[in-house]
Parts: sequence; C-alpha cells; structure tokens
Amino acid sequence: MIDSHCHIAGPEFTGDLDAVIARARGARLAHAMVILAADDEPELAQAAEVSGHWPEARFSIGVHPHAAGKFAEDPAAAAAQVEAAIADQPLTRAVGEIGLDYHYDFAPRPAQQQVFREQIRLARRRGLPIVIHTREAEDDTFMILAEESAQDVGGVFHCFTGDRDMARRALDIGFHISLAGIVTFPRALELHEVARIVPLDRLLIETDSPFLAPVPHRGTRNEPAHVVYVAERIAGLRGEAPETIAAAALANFQRLFKP
Ligand SMILES: [Zn+2]
Ligand SMILES: [Zn+2]
Repeated sequence: MIDSHCHIAGPEFTGDLDAVIARARGARLAHAMVILAADDEPELAQAAEVSGHWPEARFSIGVHPHAAGKFAEDPAAAAAQVEAAIADQPLTRAVGEIGLDYHYDFAPRPAQQQVFREQIRLARRRGLPIVIHTREAEDDTFMILAEESAQDVGGVFHCFTGDRDMARRALDIGFHISLAGIVTFPRALELHEVARIVPLDRLLIETDSPFLAPVPHRGTRNEPAHVVYVAERIAGLRGEAPETIAAAALANFQRLFKP
C-alpha cells in the first residue's frame, strides 16, 4: 500500500506525528509522497521531522496554484524557490503540487499559468515527474502540458475529479491518475466510472491528508492510514481484490517516483 499524496508536514500533524506514522505503518504503507509547499518555511523544515520518524517517506515540492499570485511579477522566481528547496531535501522525488485552480481563482489566471509553466520546465531540467493539481481548468491544463512537453517527465493528476473523457486525455499523454477519498462518496458516480476504466498500471491512490477523509471518516482530519478505504472502494467498483489495487499502486509509485 502507498499514499501518493498527503500533507503530513503541515501544522495539523505536528502534535501527533508519531501516532499518525505508527497507524500508517500499521496499515502496511510502504511509502507516502509528502507534499511540501516551496513558499512555506515551517512545512519545509518539518519535512526533516517526517523523514526522521518515517524513512520511507518521500517528498514532492512545488508552488501551489493558490500561491501563484506571490510570483505574478516574476514567475521564474517560483521555480527558483522550488529548486532551492529541492537542494535542501535529498528525498525529493517530484515537483508538485503544481497546476491550475480556476474553481477558487485565489491567484490571477495568467500568474497561475506562468508559474505552472516555469515549474514544468524545472521538472524537465531535473528529470523529475510532476504532481498536478487541476480544478475547472481542463483545457488550459492540457494545453500547457502539451506546449511544455510535460510527457517527457510524466507524472500524476492528483485527486482526480474529472470525467471519463478527461481521464482518457490524461492517460493518452502517459500520465497516472490518483484517486482520493472522494471515490468513497456515494454520489460520486462520474468518479466511480473513472475508477473502473483506469488501467491498473496507471492507477495511484491517495488521501490528500488532512483533507478529504473517506467514508467512514468523512468530516474528520484525514491521515495516510485511511488510504485503505480508498483502495477498498476502488476494488469494489472494479470487482477486484483490495490487495490487487494496493499492489498495483505500489508498483506504479515505485516506477514513477523511484523512491
Ligand atoms: Zn491539490
Ligand atoms: Zn494536496
């Protein structure tokens, strides 16, 4: 089992990180990809605490689209900040989360786009896969991925919430699809359809902790151990064993992120 996307270096976990990691180990997680925001000093510093307690944790560093406004005047500075953080964290295995969020629009869209582009260029220079956050920005996301030749490094659409056609577009350019706890929600019918069609060798699973706790923990702080509910629900939808989903996700994690 793996968790391909969690934020356990954030403030929600400083009080009981040991217990959270113990439960993750108890749930037989071999690895977790811990997302770090390059513009968040406390989170970058807390990464050492995470890897100290959990040597199998790996890191992905990026400037989130919500924070892109800080770099509106100088988008290349976002990539420079990520590159500096990578230099300080030898367990970094990806650039992200990066992308576009037109649902919240916390940053002006041109800034989101330029900051996304600069970070794809950095990922290509470093030979690292990318972790994509995209919301209500499907066409622009695929346009930028194509223009920046992102398929050269590949990566994952994290917390995928698109429909079947969008899943097909992501798969066609060689990307992985990571499903989060939303797939356990009874009314997420479109996502259930996606869970059935993603090839086993492109499927990842995640918690996005502390967000998006799956059923039966909905509404509480999420944590990596809860990824088992995501695997179980996907297995049920596909008519496969949970162990099959877990093993596929682990194999894909190893191939993509080279932990
Ligand atoms: Zn995200
Ligand atoms: Zn996230």
